[in-house]
Amino acid sequence: MTTYEPVMGLEIHAVLETRTKMFCACPMLGSTHDQPNAAVCPVCAGMPGTLPVANRAAVEFALRVALALECEVSPVSVFARKSYFYPDLPKGYQISQYDQPLAQNGLITFHTAAGDKTVRIRRVHIEEDTGKLTHLNGDDGSASLVDLNRAGVPLLEIVSEPDLHSADDVRAYAVAIHSLLRALGVNSGDLEKGLFRIEPNISLRVSGSSEYGTRVEVKNLNSFRSLERAVAYEIQRQTALLDAGQPVVQQTLGWDDGRGTTTPQRSKEDAEDYRYFPEPDLPPLVVSREWLAEVRAALPELPYARAQRFERQYGLEAYDARVLTADTDVANYFEELAKNVPAKAAANWLTGEVFSWLNERGLGIAAFPLNSEALAALVRMAADGDISLNTAKSVLGEMLTSGGTAAEIVAAKNLGLVSDPEAIAGWVRAALAAHPEQVAGYQGGKTGLKQFLFGQAMRLSDGRADPGLLQEELARQLG
Ligand code: ADP
Ligand code: MG
Ligand code: ZN
Repeated sequence: MTTYEPVMGLEIHAVLETRTKMFCACPMLGSTHDQPNAAVCPVCAGMPGTLPVANRAAVEFALRVALALECEVSPVSVFARKSYFYPDLPKGYQISQYDQPLAQNGLITFHTAAGDKTVRIRRVHIEEDTGKLTHLNGDDGSASLVDLNRAGVPLLEIVSEPDLHSADDVRAYAVAIHSLLRALGVNSGDLEKGLFRIEPNISLRVSGSSEYGTRVEVKNLNSFRSLERAVAYEIQRQTALLDAGQPVVQQTLGWDDGRGTTTPQRSKEDAEDYRYFPEPDLPPLVVSREWLAEVRAALPELPYARAQRFERQYGLEAYDARVLTADTDVANYFEELAKNVPAKAAANWLTGEVFSWLNERGLGIAAFPLNSEALAALVRMAADGDISLNTAKSVLGEMLTSGGTAAEIVAAKNLGLVSDPEAIAGWVRAALAAHPEQVAGYQGGKTGLKQFLFGQAMRLSDGRADPGLLQEELARQLG
């Protein structure tokens, strides 16, 4: 029986979230509620006689990514026209880069369930986005609406080498690129809004062979979960075809999330169909050494390096370090919190209570109602033993609904740990009086019963007795 090795390479398109479009001064619109065609000028509407001008900020964003991916940046790269014949790009072509892209030959290292992986980056180039078509009455062609707000928006395309070999690796790679772009401040990462689009190419080859098999490309993936499912589905589908002696057909597929299957979209265009040629209206894109050095010097710490630092500096487990650095905002929040409370407690509270609160609501840390100082005040009360851990968790819930501070809520509800010797002695006395058999058992040598009696006394205090003092008092009364 032949065994096959899955082979995957990804094309990722990310919107470069600059203020204006790639080749004109039109603003980038953020909201899906924006009026159609509210940000359109003669350049992005493709009027004859207009001239494009490259957006320097977009190039700088692209350079950040290229450098973070350890690419070779071309001192001179070239924009090219790629034929395109739908009305959402009225020029009849898309400005892209072809045989002389901005950057090539990079790599990225990231974590996967099976250990760290390095994937080679084939190229990073700049292009413009298309507008949006809305087909009325389904696809019968009765009418289509054209919205050019997105036409001319700067896109970065990141193409990997086919170095990925499982659905899990594909997901981990895409997540790594996603957090990298967020850390670099060039893309906010919303897959559902189409700001970050992932297209996996998937093929199988006979295990041990060095030749690649025929690949398909899957489009329309709007979550990492869909990405992983689509790749796993294709691996399975192609394996079944090859096992049955049938060929894999090279094609572009869509992903149907509801049915959990891929569906044919259109046959694959070859490069010739695009009839690329150098864009005559734009000069070659020149990146000086000085500019490149400036961009390099301003790069922030990247997620992979930051995770390693978190392990060293804060003594975190590798897993916690990774979870806390996948998102720059989370990592920043953690570092703020860790200024005021022990790092381990900061990590536990964030990955535990805070993440579950956010996940239940599908929110990011930016939407968390408490700033790091407010949370630190609560974490410190628990760490200092002013309140029990369980109490602290319910106080957090209260802070998130009522908006009060930890101190206010603890004082108002009288939740603080009680260290008054009289009160503690009273709870211990009552517990011992209520359980004479256990007291006798303990005194007869069953030392384990002490823990039982401790629990009873703690219960009488509603969990508020200072555990250390309670322990001491219990030992004293038991003699
Ligand atoms: P195109 O631009 O026509 O889609 P490319 O050759 O630029 O073609 O490749 C695009 C992507 O497909 C790259 O990410 C590459 O790694 C991946 N790829 C190429 N060949 C294969 C293959 N046999 N199996 C899986 N992925 C592949
Ligand atoms: Mg492709
Ligand atoms: Zn415009």
